[in-house]
Amino acid sequence: MATKIFVLDTTLRDGEQTPGVSLSPEQKLGIAKALDELGVDALEAGAAITSEGEREGIKKIAKEGLKADVYSFARILKQDIDLALDCDVDGIFLVAPTSDLHIKYKLGSSREAVLKSVIELVGYCRQHGLKVDVCCEDGSRSEPAFLLKVLKAVEQAKADRFTLADTVGALTPGRMSDLVKVLAKKAKIPLGVHCHDDLGMATANTVAAVRSGARAVDVTINGLGERAGNASLEEVVMALKTSYGYSMNVKTERLSAISDMVERVTGVPVPPNKAIVGENAFTHEAGIHVDGILKKPETYELISPELVGARRRFVLGKHVGMKSVKKMVEELDLKATDGQLAEIFKQVKFMGDKGKRVTNVDLEAIAGQVMGIEQKRLIRLEELVTVAGNKFTPTASVKLVINGSEVVESATGTGPVDAAMNAIRKATKDVPFELVEYHVDAISGGSDALVRIMVKLKSKDRIITSQGTGADIILASVDAMVNGLNSIMARMSR
Ligand code: MN
Repeated sequence: MATKIFVLDTTLRDGEQTPGVSLSPEQKLGIAKALDELGVDALEAGAAITSEGEREGIKKIAKEGLKADVYSFARILKQDIDLALDCDVDGIFLVAPTSDLHIKYKLGSSREAVLKSVIELVGYCRQHGLKVDVCCEDGSRSEPAFLLKVLKAVEQAKADRFTLADTVGALTPGRMSDLVKVLAKKAKIPLGVHCHDDLGMATANTVAAVRSGARAVDVTINGLGERAGNASLEEVVMALKTSYGYSMNVKTERLSAISDMVERVTGVPVPPNKAIVGENAFTHEAGIHVDGILKKPETYELISPELVGARRRFVLGKHVGMKSVKKMVEELDLKATDGQLAEIFKQVKFMGDKGKRVTNVDLEAIAGQVMGIEQKRLIRLEELVTVAGNKFTPTASVKLVINGSEVVESATGTGPVDAAMNAIRKATKDVPFELVEYHVDAISGGSDALVRIMVKLKSKDRIITSQGTGADIILASVDAMVNGLNSIMARMSR
């Protein structure tokens, strides 16, 4: 039987402490429900002491009847626990500083006083039917003998778990392993670990702790958290599973979707090269790799994208190989001869060499021109007018010619670009698509810079990327949309 690891998610507490992130009670509830469906065993919903709004969020989550246990963060103060009790949580994440640095300079207290408070408050939680996870703040820089003393005392007071926090991300896997072994030898209750990424070691340290006897991991979606963030749930879960075969209740095929949701709601972008959930985690460009993948995916993929709910993508650029070009031309429902393919390949390489990203729409245009297919522009922009400024609601009107007939629409938006996009959306309401990504790059410096707009449109199962370039950001955005829509409509008419 595989050893079971308990997953406690703290996206809604430590993750929300990411600089610049603040979630409404409704947003917190949305993420909590998604975490519950993901299969986390417990979630820290917030710190009840923080604010009225925070308590409202925690209450909503506690009332939802989730399978996961709902915890509130509390300092070693009775008032923090009382406020959490008012929110009807299942448990308390009781954070007790244990390093002399924290005890002396932050609390102005002593080890004896901290120990006394922890014992009392664990008892107080138990009397009120609360679970309690005692977390040693700055545990990694605490004297191991004192950690053991706290461990033994809270075991006696009937704490449920003892969590070692590497609060400032000071450890490396070897040092984490040494410390956890000391605790594991004596522990009668499960040990947890809470790691930060200040040295880029959070995932490695969490895995090392589990290998040395920890049975619970504190993690966040996308590795959100204070400063450099916390250990990321998706990395820890996949590392424990693929490298060691530990079992967890997490349904890994939901990882991509929840990562997207948290990115959207918090506004903190996931770097493209982020493990497991980054945009490039299953994207291949180099010809040698694509060739290998097409023969056997394991050649260049450690885990299959389906396992984490992601999709494999091939992109075109200067490292592209003939096999990817062939496959992508086939995906356009075009039948090119070997000679035509060779010419398409040459032109894609040429574009890639100039540092340009080659989108689907570019490939379609190249293939169309090489194969002598008439490029039907089924949708064309005739007129665009936008109004913006501090006295106006941003408004745009467009005149499009769609399949030969004129369509005029107008819309408002958060800014002129958004208004123009909304107007196009209204004018093309019969075309099935949604805008899933919008990206701006300034190609040159200065306020007269050329901008390149990349949009990603989703139409049924297909993702279409297209771009527009120019000095006018609104016009370039509209061009990118119209280019993508032409590709969708050409497909529909084929
Ligand atoms: Mn933390």
